[in-house]
Amino acid sequence: MAPRLAIKIDVDTLEGYFQGVPVLLTILADYDIKASFFLALGPDNSGKAIFRVFRQQGFLAKMLRTRAPAIYGLKTMMYGTLLKAPLIGAAAPGILPAIATRGHEAGLHGYDHVRWHDHLFDLTREGVDREIGLAQEAFTAILGRPARSFAAPGWQCSRESREALAARGFPYGSDTRGRTPYFPRFGAKVSPVLEIPTTLPTLDELLGLNGCRPRDFTRLVLKRLEGSSPQVLTVHAEIEGGPFRREFADLLHQGRQMGVEFFRLADWAGELLLNPQDLPVSGVESVRLPGRAGRVSGQGPLEAPSPW
Ligand SMILES: [Zn+2]
Repeated sequence: MAPRLAIKIDVDTLEGYFQGVPVLLTILADYDIKASFFLALGPDNSGKAIFRVFRQQGFLAKMLRTRAPAIYGLKTMMYGTLLKAPLIGAAAPGILPAIATRGHEAGLHGYDHVRWHDHLFDLTREGVDREIGLAQEAFTAILGRPARSFAAPGWQCSRESREALAARGFPYGSDTRGRTPYFPRFGAKVSPVLEIPTTLPTLDELLGLNGCRPRDFTRLVLKRLEGSSPQVLTVHAEIEGGPFRREFADLLHQGRQMGVEFFRLADWAGELLLNPQDLPVSGVESVRLPGRAGRVSGQGPLEAPSPW
C-alpha cells in the first residue's frame, strides 16, 4: 500500500492568514495536493503569548531557537498588547473562500487562539461553547455555511471542549497528539466525536533540537511514512508558509517522488466512521513533547473498541 499522509495546516495569526495561506495554496497546487486547513478567525492576540515566557518553562528557549521574531514579525508579537487585536477573518475575507474553492478542507482552529491555548482548562462548558460558537459564526459569515471540523489550538482538549463539539454535531476533531484515530475517553465518559490526532512532530518543535536542520526533519517525516499507518503532519501558515516555505515544498516534492498519497482529514473521518465499532477508545493525557513548551493533550494507551 502507498504511504499516506495528511497535511493539517493551522492558521493562528493574521499574518499567517493573510500572507502564509496564499503561499501554501500555491505550493499545494504545484504538487496537486489537497490539505486540511484549520483557521482561528477571531482576534489575533499573539502579543499576549509573550507572557508565556514568564509562566512556562522552556518557552523562552524555544522562542530564541526558532527565532520567533523573524517568523512572526514584531507587529504580530504586539497584537493584543500594545496594538489592538485585529479580527483575522474580517481583515481578509477573501482568503477562506480561496481555500475552499481549491478543494481543500476548511475547519475551525478556535476563535481566540491565545485564549483557548492558555485558558481552556479555566473555561466553563459554556465558555468553551462560546469560543466554538463565535468561531462558527465568523466562518459562516464568510463562507455561507458552517465548518464541519475542528482542531484545538495548541492541542489543548478537555472534556468540556469535546462535549461542546458533540453538542454542535461535529463528526470529528483533531485536538490531540497521538498515533491512531480513536474515541477519546474522559473518566467513564467516551466522546462520540472521533479524534484524528496529529501523529508526527512539528518542524518548529524539532528545529535546532540536537542540531536538527529542516532537511533532517524532512527525512524523519518520510521515514515515518514507511510504516503501514497513515500519518498526520501539522504545519503552520506562519512557519511553513513563511520562512520555511522552500523546505515545505521540498518535503512535498520528496513525498510525491516516494508515491505518497495525500489525503484530507475529513475524507479519512468519513471512511473511518463507516465502521465506528472497529475504532479504539483511548484516554486523553496531559503530556510533554520534545521541543514544545508547556503540555499538550495526548492519546493514552489503546482500549477496547468503542460502544458504537
Ligand atoms: Zn494553532
